[in-house]
Amino acid sequence: MTSPVWHPFTQHGLNEPIPQVVRADGALLHLADGGTLIDAISSWWVTTHGHCHPRIAAAIAQQAATLDQLIFAGYTHAPAEEVARGLIALAPRAPGQPELAHVFYSDSGSTAVEVAIKMALGYWYNLGQPERHRILVLEHGYHGDTIGTMSIGERGVYNAAWTPLLFDVGTIPFPAPGAEQACLDALESACRDKPAAFIVEPLILGAGGMLIYPASVLREMAAICRRHDVLFIADEVMTGWGRTGTLFACEQAGIVPDIMAVAKGITGGAIPLAATLATAPIFDAHRSTDRARLFYHSSSYTANAIACAAAVANIAIWQEEDVLGRIAALSAGIAARLGTLASHRAFANPRQLGTIAAIDLMTGDAGYLSDLAPRLRAFFLDKGLLLRPLGNTIYMMPPYCTDAAQLDRLFTAIAQAGDYFSANA
Ligand code: PLP
Repeated sequence: MTSPVWHPFTQHGLNEPIPQVVRADGALLHLADGGTLIDAISSWWVTTHGHCHPRIAAAIAQQAATLDQLIFAGYTHAPAEEVARGLIALAPRAPGQPELAHVFYSDSGSTAVEVAIKMALGYWYNLGQPERHRILVLEHGYHGDTIGTMSIGERGVYNAAWTPLLFDVGTIPFPAPGAEQACLDALESACRDKPAAFIVEPLILGAGGMLIYPASVLREMAAICRRHDVLFIADEVMTGWGRTGTLFACEQAGIVPDIMAVAKGITGGAIPLAATLATAPIFDAHRSTDRARLFYHSSSYTANAIACAAAVANIAIWQEEDVLGRIAALSAGIAARLGTLASHRAFANPRQLGTIAAIDLMTGDAGYLSDLAPRLRAFFLDKGLLLRPLGNTIYMMPPYCTDAAQLDRLFTAIAQAGDYFSANA
């Protein structure tokens, strides 16, 4: 029987297998056919502590039976208030920099970033400078799949059909090793034209290929924006909630962005929720007795109470348990094993930031439309692993509960992929 389901980022014409998952716990997915998979990419980078975490599952069940959903324009509820206070308490801080002080809810990383862009333009508009609407972005960036977030992301085959709808941005070259100063100079020069904002994925570009750049460059980017009065937006949708070794990546650079987008791991990865945090000046630019200045954005499920309860439980886990200790142990386990892959002749450019590791397979056609990534996917599926390479970049971003035996299986399979694909390119 053919399924009516249209899957995301899936070419149904290729008839690739679509395994059915019936249950999950920890780092494991249990399949309908009785098999199991290690979820080595945290189900698209969302699952942090592990699947079906008992504290988060219990909070969801309890909230679902108490208050499920509430219109959030003009009404509020305790879980949303608690998450907002928790986010403000956990957000990056630095001496002498304005604090993130306000929390606007939405439902996905894309909407959190859309809200960030709208806040930035709303800020300048309400300050009487509507001509400041240009957004600066980093080359190879990814911020989502809505029209606005595609506009500020890398252009390619994945958004070609919608090019006529995408707005113009200023692209700053990626600070690759040796090109850091060129990147900073380009940013400084672009800032002189008084754009509205500069948006970055802090420390690591995810979908762009797990491209890492130094905290010192991130710090300097923020400083340049501050010098030129350009809003600095950090998209922590992927990097947030511990992936890079700290709760938020911005902490490693000692910076506080003007606007910060978070999603994915905000509920531990159990249920959709997103938030856009802003400093007082951004909020104050919209606060007035004039209704025309309010922030015109909402969606039906803004601050859904069940999702907020999951986020309350997640924040409690962060505050009460040694999550950073688990992350440090996992990062060390990955580092020890990544070293062994580095000497494999099929691989190049091993890299790691916290619990994220990547390596490039130097064989065959690596283009986005080549069949290398799907062949790799199938190879790993056969070995009981959920991995989803980006072109020829094999990366992992496992949940923090992943154990040593699971890491061993993961790295053994990647080494085997190196052997197999260099013999069968
Ligand atoms: N921003 C970044 C950095 C991301 O990696 C992603 C998704 O991977 C998004 C935004 C979009 O998030 P979502 O898929 O929840 O809309």
